[in-house]
Formats: sequence, structure tokens, C-alpha cells
Amino acid sequence: MVKSSDGGDGDGDGDGDGALGQVPSDAPAGGEIRRIVLGNYSIAAWYASPYPEEYKLGGELYICQRCLKYMRHRQTLDGHRCEDPFPRGRLVYEDTAVALYEVDGKEHTLYCQNMCLLSKLFLDQKTIFYDIGGFLFYILLAKQAWGLGAQAAPPPRRGEGAPIEYTFVGYFSKEKASVEGNNLACILVLPPFRGQSYGQLLIELSYELTKLEGTTGGPEQPLSSQGFHSYRSYWRRAIAQALLGTLPAAERYLQSTRGCGKHRAQPDKDGAERRIFSLSRLARLTGIRTEDVMFTLEDLGLLESWCGRHTVCIADESIRQVVADRRIALGMRMDPDGLLVESSDMSGDLSDSSADTADSGASTSGDDDSD
Ligand SMILES: [Zn+2]
Repeated sequence: MVKSSDGGDGDGDGDGDGALGQVPSDAPAGGEIRRIVLGNYSIAAWYASPYPEEYKLGGELYICQRCLKYMRHRQTLDGHRCEDPFPRGRLVYEDTAVALYEVDGKEHTLYCQNMCLLSKLFLDQKTIFYDIGGFLFYILLAKQAWGLGAQAAPPPRRGEGAPIEYTFVGYFSKEKASVEGNNLACILVLPPFRGQSYGQLLIELSYELTKLEGTTGGPEQPLSSQGFHSYRSYWRRAIAQALLGTLPAAERYLQSTRGCGKHRAQPDKDGAERRIFSLSRLARLTGIRTEDVMFTLEDLGLLESWCGRHTVCIADESIRQVVADRRIALGMRMDPDGLLVESSDMSGDLSDSSADTADSGASTSGDDDSD
């Protein structure tokens, strides 16, 4: 059965998917692709995409979900016996509902080019059509066990019993060596899958990968207004979690710094315990680059100056008040156990207690955390 999708929500309601583009008021004109059929979905295009002119003649494209090859006729797709591996690439994240695969643009150039052409149909902003080899693509696939309805029991993980059917949901791309420290270049969730927090999941995963690299990063600038809305929602959530010590890494950090002068929770005049964080510490805990941490703290009214440096000195209760006032949803979408890649830089890994101790020592002498 082919399900029809004309727009998705595109409402930017804070679940993040709205960030990925809105339904435009003027759909592609004649001579452009107006609709695609992909997997079980027939999806209306939002923007023009530079497919070869001869493929635009019918206004409709039929796309193979496995290799993203595009065809002009239904019969061609029906007759297409795809030999490409699917899913392809390296599995980097998996939970009961989704899997994320890393695909190298250098090894899978045609596939990634096809992905960029496809994504341009739904993105107002530019996407890359050159230097594909300089990018990694992270492909998000929804899982469903063969023969089961969408509402059936969650499908097994790989290697556990029944074969799994994968549906292409979206992706983000990332420059392999970004001079600006960008951890995300382009992000897309296909219209039929919007409003299900897949966008926030992709953003979350982009930062998790950055943390594993022992660094910080952020999206390529400039952000669209929708993109900004989505990222702001994510930054608020991640930073509130870090302040409350509910990020796994944050918890370890707070434990390791207990008793250390600068970071010790200090009772204020009301007797409430207050925690002190520097901007760079919050950046390390969340993978969010310092300027975005600073923006978010300022936005939430939490930024203070302490000894000439920007810090947050706050009681848990006050954080919870901000979370309630700003309606920040604290839950993370991803399953922390689902990440399947190792940290590539142990010196930046907060789970390394010796690194933490060393950091804490430096903090007391006041030469750390220059913001
Ligand atoms: Zn194919």
C-alpha cells in the first residue's frame, strides 16, 4: 500500500522536526519534481531539486529505498532488482525502534549524491552537491519486524531472531574535517515521519558522536529560523540536564569534583545547596560549543559572572523552576546503551575518572575553564 503524504507537520512545535523545513506556500512549479514514491510512501515535494532535466518531465519520480536510485516510471521501479546492501555502512546506534548507520561519502558517492538530491526536495537551504567525499552521512532507519504491523511488539535487535524491515526516515550529514567545528551540515526527516521527535533524536545523536570525539561542536551556520527553534529546544534540554546532574557524564563529573573547592556545592544564605559550573565545563558535558552554551544560559537567565568568568551558580530547585517555567522536556530520546561506537579520544572522555581528577586539580588553581 502506498501512503500519501502532502506535507508533514512542519510546525516547528519544539519536537525538533519542524526545524527541518516547513511546507512552503509555493510548491515546485511545472518542470520540476512535484511528487516522489519512496518505499510505501507517496510524498509531495516542497522545493525544486537539481535532478537531471529529463527526469523532471513527468513531475514524478520513483525511488528505490535501498540505493536511492531514481526512475521516471513505476514499471521501472517494479522491475528494479536492487543488489545494493541495505542497510549499508557502519551501525553506530540502535534501539528497539531505530538504527543509525554511518556512510562514508567517499565510499558510497552515488548513494550519497542521490540522498542529497532527495533531501533538496524538502529543504529550502542549500545542500551539498560537490565534495561528497568530504562528508559522512548518518542514515536513520525505522525498524519493523517482517510481517508485523506498526503497532506490534518492538522488533528484535540485529542478530536476535526475526529479520528486520528497515524504512528510511531521514539523515544528517557531517563534514569530516570542519574548520568551524561543525558537527552537522544538513539534516532531513522525510515529511511522513515528522512530529515523531526523529529530528531531536538526530540532533541528540550528532552531539553524542561529538562527545565521543572528546570535543564540542554545533550545526553549520546560518541556521534557518526553524533550525534555530529546534536547536534552542535541544540546547535547553541538554544544559538543564547537565545542571541537574542527570546526564550520565554529568553525574560522574559531580561525584569526582565533590570536595574540590571550586566546584563544591555551597549552601547559600537560605541553606540551599548551590552548584557551580563554568561555561567550558558545561560545553564538555554536553558536547555543545561554548558560544551556544553561553547563549542558552543567557536565554534562560542563568548566566552569572564569577571571578571575572562566566559561570552558573545555582540550586537544583532554581533549575527545576526554570525547567517548569520554560516547559523544558527533560527526557532524552535516545537509549544511552544504544551507542555502539567507542570514544576516539580518551583524554576528553568524561567517563575517565583520572582525567576528571586532573581537571579538578587544575580547577582549584584557577587556570582552567577560561571562557
Ligand atoms: Zn535499488
